[in-house]
Amino acid sequence: LFIAFEGGDGAGKSTQVRLLASALEAAGREVVVTRQPGGTPLGATIRDLVLHGDHVSPRAEALLFAADKAHHVDELIRPALARGAVVVTDRYTDSAVAYQGAGRLLGADEVHELQMWAVDSLVPDLTVIVDVPSEEGRRRRGEVHDRLESEADVFHEAVRQHFLALAQGSPERYLVVDGTASPEEIHESVLGRLASSGLLP
Ligand code: C5P
Repeated sequence: LFIAFEGGDGAGKSTQVRLLASALEAAGREVVVTRQPGGTPLGATIRDLVLHGDHVSPRAEALLFAADKAHHVDELIRPALARGAVVVTDRYTDSAVAYQGAGRLLGADEVHELQMWAVDSLVPDLTVIVDVPSEEGRRRRGEVHDRLESEADVFHEAVRQHFLALAQGSPERYLVVDGTASPEEIHESVLGRLASSGLLP
């Protein structure tokens, strides 16, 4: 079982990843929690380069994030799924499509194609989009932590709208939750959806 959480900066994805992992562990499942970029040692180096290094051109950024993902899927995600673990990831390919494709105007279709090649077409069983208005995301982020978080509201709004469009295009593979609801309420809707779609007993 492979579950991805996606959404803008400050949406509350990481809290939901933790809550879901705890619930699944309490139910006796082996859970591997990871994130992109940065889920492997190589990925952590790439994350640091892109987020805290010097200027990276948009295409180079897309390729570096794709490299992070390729390595992450080969080294960590596929082996974990193969031994029956549940993998819960904080961001996956849709972040690249929304941030690099829609936000940086590289073209969503091109970035999607690049991402699918990188992950050898491994698609999550469920992707949860934690949706918050971009102003709310900015308020929650507070002080800016990295280069990309300081992007203008129009950038974050373009990213947000792209996530929503992806979900609308394939409702069977997505759950959109209102990120302004309480963490417990959001967690309950995620569990409800996993149960109703037969992904959890
Ligand atoms: O949510 P997380 O802390 O992992 O994101 C780190 C930063 O990388 C954020 O500023 C996010 O906007 C950015 N990011 C990006 N493109 C991706 C993935 C993350 O711009 N494909």
